[in-house]
Amino acid sequence: MTARIIDGKALSATIKAEVAKRVEQLKEAGTTPGLAVVLVGEDAASQVYVRNKIAACEKAGLHSRNIHLAIDAPEEQLLDVVRDLNRDDTIHGILVQLPLPAHMNAARVIETISAQKDVDGFHVSNAGRLMTGRPLFRPCTPYGIMKMLESEKVVLRGAEAVIVGASNIVGKPMALLLLAAGATITLCNTKTRDLAAQTRRADVLVVATGKPGMITGDMIKPGAVIIDVGINRRADGKLTGDVDFESASQVASAITPVPGGVGPMTIAMLLVNTVEAAERNAATLV
Ligand code: NDP
Repeated sequence: MTARIIDGKALSATIKAEVAKRVEQLKEAGTTPGLAVVLVGEDAASQVYVRNKIAACEKAGLHSRNIHLAIDAPEEQLLDVVRDLNRDDTIHGILVQLPLPAHMNAARVIETISAQKDVDGFHVSNAGRLMTGRPLFRPCTPYGIMKMLESEKVVLRGAEAVIVGASNIVGKPMALLLLAAGATITLCNTKTRDLAAQTRRADVLVVATGKPGMITGDMIKPGAVIIDVGINRRADGKLTGDVDFESASQVASAITPVPGGVGPMTIAMLLVNTVEAAERNAATLV
């Protein structure tokens, strides 16, 4: 079997075009949706992510603000920036790029973002809402993956979904979204005994570990749908995922590539969340 490629780049372009239309409608009604992206320090990968997010905003017609603090900025300075953005009526979404330097408490910073502007969906209130089935903002990466599965018409009701990686930003919210869609979920971490026995049961396998090529074809059920979240830089500078694409694509029925899979979807869903925040805000002003 040679797997179908799930084209995140193409789907993200469609979603961004829909976002641009919603932005136009909002502008006609007097609101320009605004996203603030706050970066602390000079981490090369984070700088690329921030640049891509700002560029995507501009292309879709959103207003964006890029705030850059020095690596040694005190946490209180970052909290003040966030508090100012919470009060700023031109900003509907606030994103603090992670990871933060070690002297900052990421949980405290995220809790300072207004839950109504938390377009990453990482605030404890938004995590709780997701868990209890009343989501306000869905974290962008798992939200984008759900859109990919939807566009591929993958049947989730009753499916075995195995997620490898249980972070707050990818694995855990992914499990909740798949559960809400009717899948039976298994969430794996580094302590999982016999990982291959779990992954081989998966009709849908989502891998988000940051361990390049750790899932190989022999760990995959024939015909499974494989979602590779990993973004790892190889020695030659190229990006690679957490799944060994060569062997996996011989066994799976569909697979996301890296790059061009989940990554572009994450940015598209950030725009969706920001526009939704602006639409909600506009509705409260009517
Ligand atoms: P974290 O490091 O926060 O979490 C990794 C998770 O994977 C942990 O739960 C860890 O288990 C688990 N894990 C690591 N190694 C193994 C293993 N050998 N077997 C089983 N489980 C394992 O990573 P993130 O969730 O933040 O990111 C994961 C990957 O996804 C990275 O490559 C990152 O760059 C990428 N990413 C891509 C995005 C995109 O838009 N495409 C967005 C966000 C992340 P334990 O809990 O036991 O430590």
